[in-house]
Amino acid sequence: MSTSEIENSFGFDKIYRFKVRGFSKGKIRVTTFSQAYNLMINKNNGDGGNSKPVDPLCAADPLVPTEWKSYEKFALSAFNCARPYRFMDVALPSTTPTSQLTSKNELLPVAQCKLPAQNNYNNVGFKQNGWQFNGDLQIQIIPIQFTDYGSSENPVKEYSKYLEYIKEMYFKISDGNTRITYKVPNSYIQIGSDIKSYVVDGSLQDGSGIVWKKLDARRYERDVFNAADKVIDFTGIDMTIVLVPLSVPTEFIGHSSEFRMDNVRTNEGIVEYNYLMPPATEVDRRSFYGVEPFLHLHEIFHANGLLNDHLGDAGKGPYLGTGRWGHMSGMLTDFILWDKWIAGMLRDSQVICASPNSVGTYWIKPASYFGTFEKLLVIPLSSTRAIAIESERAAGMNFKIPEIARGALVYTLDTLDTRFDAGITVIRPENRTGPIQLGTFILADAPLKSGESLTVWGHKISVLESGDWGDVIKVEKA
Ligand SMILES: [Zn+2]
Repeated sequence: MSTSEIENSFGFDKIYRFKVRGFSKGKIRVTTFSQAYNLMINKNNGDGGNSKPVDPLCAADPLVPTEWKSYEKFALSAFNCARPYRFMDVALPSTTPTSQLTSKNELLPVAQCKLPAQNNYNNVGFKQNGWQFNGDLQIQIIPIQFTDYGSSENPVKEYSKYLEYIKEMYFKISDGNTRITYKVPNSYIQIGSDIKSYVVDGSLQDGSGIVWKKLDARRYERDVFNAADKVIDFTGIDMTIVLVPLSVPTEFIGHSSEFRMDNVRTNEGIVEYNYLMPPATEVDRRSFYGVEPFLHLHEIFHANGLLNDHLGDAGKGPYLGTGRWGHMSGMLTDFILWDKWIAGMLRDSQVICASPNSVGTYWIKPASYFGTFEKLLVIPLSSTRAIAIESERAAGMNFKIPEIARGALVYTLDTLDTRFDAGITVIRPENRTGPIQLGTFILADAPLKSGESLTVWGHKISVLESGDWGDVIKVEKA
């Protein structure tokens, strides 16, 4: 998470908060977020005088799951934003496009679209180290308590809805390719010291002015793993999540690159990736890093180093990166498919690797529908550059995206782009004249509608047809 993501989270981007007041109007039964949202806009227009722009991505969800209902209220009051707390299943319809599609034997081998990682911070290429966030992953929970702050509860009881959410959402957004199993001890492991005893001079802070106490991270790491190693067998563990009791004040567990644990030695070998989760308590703005479930899907990728932020110039412009498209760019929407692919969540079989040298017509299914469909179209231009296209619809974790954002999202990949938070760039069509953002949603209007086209890096990308089944994309040299 970077500075501007945090600022965005706390409303410095002029977030306008609102709540869905009525869930029915006349005899219309409202069953989706979109219906409720549209009713609300109409109601606001009808009120007259209420000219505040609405913010679709941060709006309350009328169908929020029961276990997140009260948290959603807290999120709106403390962070000015309610993120997605459910996955909205939308089935691929039986209808299909009518365009003549390029045959599969004219496609390139998918390996040709896997731009290799470069040795730079903004790496957006494929790493060669092998470990990926897919398959049957074993996550070890390390629940740690202290002599000054403890808990006699089972850690599963204190954190069950978080662990379930993380597991379910990764499963759904990966089309079933990322399957987490947790190993959780029955009780918190006593570290044998006050958490206060780890406090050293100085402080940790994020970009929005939130401050934490600074802990001696190396001594803390040593003590956590010494205590854990006595009771946990780390054999076959892909990653750990270090939890603390809900009684621990939020000021102790900081959100900072200075407070992390990587490549820790245990009796069973090195555990490379460890996510230090702050307490999930609803206290204040500092609680965000522990209590916001959607955030953990983002932070886990910082802990395992598979993905970077794509805000572009830290979100301050003029370079906008991917706007608010993608979880790694502001934590408001689902991961873009390129990130899912390089992290291992999207299967190779879901990628259409198309030749840059011939005219082609391809059908991509909606990115946010659950299913092992072909979803990502990639046109490799060299070993460091490619154009990618995906189909955005209101479904899955993107169920809140407004009409203006539904279409074919075009972005470029450049593994040699070393600007801050750069390398993936969403292309906004030149004919867009409205504001660059809708509420918090930067580049909301970038997706191409049916009949539209744009030109990027010498290639013309057109949408020939679109429907609930996705988009048909024509690619040709400009
Ligand atoms: Zn981030």
